[in-house]
Amino acid sequence: MNKTIDIQVKKTEASKLPETDFENLAFGQTISDHMFVADYKDGEWKDFRVEPYAPLDLNPANATLHYGQSVFEGLKAYKNDNGDVLIFRPDANQKRLKESSIRMCIPPVPEDLFMEGLSRLMEVDRDWIPNKPGCSLYIRPFIFATDDYLGIRPSATYKFMIFTCPVGHYYAKPVSVKVETKYTRAAEGGTGYAKAAGNYAGSLYPALLAQEQGYDQLLWTDAKNHEFIEESGTMNVMFIINGKLITAPTTKGTILKGITRDSVLTLAQEMGLPVEERFLAVSELQEALENGTLEEAFGTGTAATIAHISKINVGDKDYTLPEKPLDAFSYKVLETLDAIKYGKIEDKHGWITK
Ligand code: PMP
Repeated sequence: MNKTIDIQVKKTEASKLPETDFENLAFGQTISDHMFVADYKDGEWKDFRVEPYAPLDLNPANATLHYGQSVFEGLKAYKNDNGDVLIFRPDANQKRLKESSIRMCIPPVPEDLFMEGLSRLMEVDRDWIPNKPGCSLYIRPFIFATDDYLGIRPSATYKFMIFTCPVGHYYAKPVSVKVETKYTRAAEGGTGYAKAAGNYAGSLYPALLAQEQGYDQLLWTDAKNHEFIEESGTMNVMFIINGKLITAPTTKGTILKGITRDSVLTLAQEMGLPVEERFLAVSELQEALENGTLEEAFGTGTAATIAHISKINVGDKDYTLPEKPLDAFSYKVLETLDAIKYGKIEDKHGWITK
């Protein structure tokens, strides 16, 4: 995009701030006052604006409702002790949104539009960013088709929007997971690497079945033979076996390239923990559970950062993982990531955008 970005700002006349209880924020239920909107028409992104958060006017023939041409992102903003707004790795989310868009035939949002739209929205709604320890502002950018047309082809018009939700401290209690051997989240050649709406719709039913059996989440396996571990629920998943951190590579296109995943791998290497990006066989996991060489298992993602796994079901056997010592890697890396996000230690990786 060559021209300068002109963003119109229309502020709300009735802020919801006074009636918002920042002490009791359920994830994703409290929405800030404003949203950023851009429209794609006649082959270009235009009409950039920040306006009061409001319902959309939608035609029943809207293409997204029928064919799911839609992609999204999730990232967070924090406040440091001086009240500065710190956003964690927005450039990485912009790049991933672009990759997802290309896969779903959606015209990518240019980098400067993404960053400018985001920072203008942060300026207008900065009072919505909690400044309590552990709290943050969850940011949801998304793009969806807006053609009103019943026929399968890429839409000619789209909306790019960003809205935000203040979120409280995420008390990530350890989760129980079940190795899924019937359903799949993603297959090679499919859309697993894209943060596309339909991927999430397709994962609901198998996850529900697992919940009915008493597990919090699934450990997704590969689509071919359900032989190798891929992800956990909507997180990447990591295992420490015999002093090595093992996580699935993202090269086959079936796994979402998590930004927390990438950050944890970078920090692990710096902390001297050997990292192996390779597919872990379910049989190898089971063996490590049987012989006690599985030291840690955890999911990584923006919402929880680290979600410890306390129980794993393989086949028809439940394995309970031992309590981790407080100097376990997963605790240390969580502490380091939090310190970076809240501006408590030097951001030597350039992960923070002020
Ligand atoms: N895998 C899936 C399927 C996800 O939805 C997410 C959440 N975005 C992740 C992994 C973790 O990605 P990130 O660390 O960027 O939040």
